[in-house]
Amino acid sequence: MSEAELVLRSRRVVTPEGTRAASVAVTAGTITAVLPYDADVPAGARVEDYGDDVLLPGLVDTHVHVNDPGRTAWEGFWTATRAAAAGGITTLVDMPLNSLPPTTTVDHLRVKQEAARDKAHVDVGFWGGALPDNVKDLRPLHEAGVFGFKAFLSPSGVDEFPHLDQEQLARSLAETAGFDGLMIVHAEDPHHLAAAPQQGGPKYAHFLASRPRDAEDTAVARLIDQARRLRARVHVLHLSSGDALPMIRQARAEGVRITVETCPHYLTLTAEEVPDGASEFKCCPPIREAANQDLLWEALADGTVDCVVTDHSPSTADLKTDDFATAWGGISGLQLSLAAVWTEARRRGHTLDDIARWMSERTAALVGLDTKGAIAPGRDADFAVLDPDASFTVDPAALQHRNPVTAYAGRTLTGVVRSTWLRGQRIWADGEFTEPRGRLLTRHP
Ligand SMILES: [Zn+2]
Repeated sequence: MSEAELVLRSRRVVTPEGTRAASVAVTAGTITAVLPYDADVPAGARVEDYGDDVLLPGLVDTHVHVNDPGRTAWEGFWTATRAAAAGGITTLVDMPLNSLPPTTTVDHLRVKQEAARDKAHVDVGFWGGALPDNVKDLRPLHEAGVFGFKAFLSPSGVDEFPHLDQEQLARSLAETAGFDGLMIVHAEDPHHLAAAPQQGGPKYAHFLASRPRDAEDTAVARLIDQARRLRARVHVLHLSSGDALPMIRQARAEGVRITVETCPHYLTLTAEEVPDGASEFKCCPPIREAANQDLLWEALADGTVDCVVTDHSPSTADLKTDDFATAWGGISGLQLSLAAVWTEARRRGHTLDDIARWMSERTAALVGLDTKGAIAPGRDADFAVLDPDASFTVDPAALQHRNPVTAYAGRTLTGVVRSTWLRGQRIWADGEFTEPRGRLLTRHP
């Protein structure tokens, strides 16, 4: 080893070439080498030896609703990024809606960046929003460094962020295709939703019937058609319906530029186990049946689903009423996503290499962050130190996000994050945080 300020060692370092015993050399916040475990350490270098604990690349979560500024009673940059750090997430990308203003113009992006400054415990980037009337703002937002644009095809849940009809989607996609931008889409078809039985009330079965799979499947089919026709780059957000997977496989085989994410709650919770009235489990699209969940795992295994992100979308507790029709839709998963996904992944025979691929490498690639997503020379020294065999029971009081409502309360999860590192600095360990050291990220030009 020639030179290093810091060396992190573990018997299990998760690298793009597999998991092995290694020493990771770090200088000025960047990984400079990945060497054998017993490589000589240069004089003066600080050494952290994690033994059998696993060194994972810091997770990159590209789907987070921070709601700051404007709805800071729901969440904020300080609390969301602390929850992220405590969960092994070192980069998050904030969604353009639920904050006020939404991130739909460059001026609004500046307001958002100002709100995040000095409060970010992890690195933070931003998505822009595509509205029916802001096509002219998309290129300026792209040039200002947003990672892409979010569009809804059905009502978003907040009035200031209206959805696009197919013609408006086509206009926005034609614009983003012109600068090779990425359109990320909430894919539920409004006509199928309107035609579904809307009974309301506390029964989860009624809520599930109100957001049927065919609403997702139809929206995905139309998005594929538009992406193919306009040669646009699109990404399906929070896929829940396993029935949409065959057409996504087919489209990708034909060269349509489409990627797909799913979320921890679709992979680990099932409709059969949601208690009536328990709207902490409400999200849109909804958590579906166990048989559907198996399809999502198959698609992760074969690469049809690219990545796993939280869709962390909190509100104040009072909006989580026992009426599924009117309760706020959103599940808060930042701090628990790694443990939740690992618990189920391990049961199904997956490895921590898979976790790193789904939750760090592919999400970093989705937004073009080539300094994130792997333990490899030249990347940022962002790590999660994980005891993959230790278990814990989820206690909402131990969660860092502002309103610690959680669908995982009382569950036993496997995988304890011991510490989290950002650019060569330990930012969280054993419940203690440093001062915020996160940076505001922009798309690499
Ligand atoms: Zn979302």
